[in-house]
Amino acid sequence: MVKIAATSLTVLFLAISAANAQVTKLDPSKYPEINVVPPVNSPQVQTWLKELGDLSAAPKFPLRVGAPPECAPKKIEGECVWTCDNCPADDITVCNAPNTWGLTFDDGPSVETPRLLNYLKTNKLTASFFLIGSNVIQHPEIVQDEVKDGHHLASHTWSHSALTTLTNEQIVAEMKWTELAVMEATGKKLKYMRPPYGDINNRVRFILKKMGYIPVDWTGDEFDTNDWRYTVSMTAPQVIGNFTKSLDAYVANPGTKGFYCLEHDVSKPVVDMALQLLPLGIARKLNFASVAGCENDANPYQNGVAPPATNGTPGATGSAGGAQPTGTGPSTGGPKIVSSSAGSTSFSVSVGLAAAAAAVVGTMLF
Ligand SMILES: [Zn+2]
Repeated sequence: MVKIAATSLTVLFLAISAANAQVTKLDPSKYPEINVVPPVNSPQVQTWLKELGDLSAAPKFPLRVGAPPECAPKKIEGECVWTCDNCPADDITVCNAPNTWGLTFDDGPSVETPRLLNYLKTNKLTASFFLIGSNVIQHPEIVQDEVKDGHHLASHTWSHSALTTLTNEQIVAEMKWTELAVMEATGKKLKYMRPPYGDINNRVRFILKKMGYIPVDWTGDEFDTNDWRYTVSMTAPQVIGNFTKSLDAYVANPGTKGFYCLEHDVSKPVVDMALQLLPLGIARKLNFASVAGCENDANPYQNGVAPPATNGTPGATGSAGGAQPTGTGPSTGGPKIVSSSAGSTSFSVSVGLAAAAAAVVGTMLF
């Protein structure tokens, strides 16, 4: 009798666990081809476009060409290309907290991401992960682990194509498929995004804002860690040496804002490099925070399901260790279109040279 009761309880427990479990596998057949700009004539994209409404008020500029596009010899009035015109408009480019390294990793998730997550957990650091939708559908369980560890999720498009080269409708498809994948994996509707290659102009900004997205660039050439050059065109001492100079210059004259670095978690070399660069910030007693922490955004998703997890954060006077990763709110089920207004922060940066130089390398990540 006792044995039967115990068995029944076990079955009940397993049933409840299964009901509460998040989706660990997404069905790729429901999604577009990976790493390719999704078609805009699919019923799903057509539905999204209809929900978004009229896009004809978007500024009109010729589609730029290249991957990433080269800068035009002459600036186009009102286009405001971040990487070419030194024009961030109201993109976020600095961490809105003093003495703080705004920790962001782009292009994942990948099989190398768990190694980075382990390091972050050990050191009680919280980051924002700018996810590529094509990778999310292949590794949803890693994205779920990122949430479980208190990290913040953001978008880096579906196929990592340069957005100024795409039509308005293609931009919507890139963002919405990624949004759906993350929503299906975690229940969170993304709110922040980083344009691949930092490639953004006022037309792209208009479309992104229409969808409720806030662009987050990075704090200029000196905070591009160049992790993506490691094993391609730079040695480890070169990458580490250059970034050490940037950190030392910041620490010598920190001002009132922190900075966002460009880092990646898409391959072994870039994760290896992250594990060598992060200790440099820890040694200099910098605080670390995700975008949610830097922006002190209590609702860092469009469906507002999770508070920001921060460490040593905005305005905080504590140590770099700071708060423990926080738990996350309940999942909210299926996708739902909600719009929200974009925040604004405006700072001058210069990334044109880096983009131009990177274009020559050919294997740039950005
Ligand atoms: Zn990227």
